Amino acid sequence: MIPYGKQDISKQDIDAVLQVLQSDFLTQGPQVPAFEKAVTEFTGSQFGCAVNSATSALHIACLALGLGERDIIWTTPITFVASSNCGLYCGAGIDFVDIDPRTYNLCPDKLEQKLIQAEQAGKLPKVLVAVHLCGQPCDMKRIHELSLQYGFKLIEDASHAIGGSYQDSKIGSCTYSDITIFSFHPVKIVTTAEGGMAVTNDKELFDKMSLLRSHGITRDESMMQEESHGGWYYEQIALGYNYRMTELQAALGVSQMQRLGEFISARHKLAGRYNEQLKELPLTLPFQLENTYSGLHLYVIRLQLDLINKTHKQVFEELREKGIGVNLHYIPVHTQPYYKEMGFDWGDFPEAEKYYQEAISIPMFHGMTIEQQDEVVDVLRNVLR
Ligand SMILES: *Cc1c(COP(=O)(O)O)cnc(C)c1O
Repeated sequence: MIPYGKQDISKQDIDAVLQVLQSDFLTQGPQVPAFEKAVTEFTGSQFGCAVNSATSALHIACLALGLGERDIIWTTPITFVASSNCGLYCGAGIDFVDIDPRTYNLCPDKLEQKLIQAEQAGKLPKVLVAVHLCGQPCDMKRIHELSLQYGFKLIEDASHAIGGSYQDSKIGSCTYSDITIFSFHPVKIVTTAEGGMAVTNDKELFDKMSLLRSHGITRDESMMQEESHGGWYYEQIALGYNYRMTELQAALGVSQMQRLGEFISARHKLAGRYNEQLKELPLTLPFQLENTYSGLHLYVIRLQLDLINKTHKQVFEELREKGIGVNLHYIPVHTQPYYKEMGFDWGDFPEAEKYYQEAISIPMFHGMTIEQQDEVVDVLRNVLR
């Protein structure tokens, strides 16, 4: 089976992890700050808070922005459930903004319409999570302007998008947002096995997130209520979690970051070949928003079902039977049973649901060979014939 995505671990990556195993620190040593530095330097942001997953990063980002029980969070229905669950962890209400049928990202026009209605109803969101689906940047300038106009905070879920850029700034620069989060799950662009990071240019948000990552405990005397009792002393000043990343993971991350450029250019090469070879087939191929560069985590095709005499499910299953490890990103979050219990249902976000009925993610990863890619194209051509 040719998988839809796969990590690429080099000898250098392995050596970096082995070195940590033989060192004094398996956790809370020098590798985590080194990884934070590698990511903030690359993205052009000031502060990085490495954690054990992007899900944890989303959670502490919401908490740092003050999201609570009386608040509402909005995101796109076409994302992994973590992008909206983070709001539920904080006790907030959740709602979605339908997607733009070209980019598959949250649609800024629909966002504006929904904000106008929400203002009238007194139900404006406190936080919006903008997800750069497949690595394609959202139209951040527009969304940022709306955030200033309507007074909500912005988190970029860049789990798919490290290495991409929006206009003149790298994804993760936080030029148009409060916090950007990354995932380092093995299927993403850069991996630390499990892992995530929240980056920001706001020192106060960074301090809050750092505290929440480690039990709400501080050893910084300027933050303490009492004078230090001695060298052992710390204070718990908030209710935090154990969301720390290990040294082994961070060392893998530092090593992987050195190859980020190579990873992204390999993805662009493969995507360019797909664009060329699939253009005659009854498919809608990825669209690229002007003035953006995609991290290209995923290559999603949409079936033009009126030109194909098979169902979406038939095409998907035939591809899998023939050894092509396709997948589907994502099942619209509002149709998940847990969300339906909150009152959402099929029909709520038509563009997202239409996308779901047509989309298939086909294999694309660093280390995929030309032969493997040609096989994907051949099989796809045969299945669609
Ligand atoms: C993978 C992913 C997450 C969660 O990442 P973890 O590191 O596995 O917690 C969140 N949002 C999106 C869009 C993702 O793709």
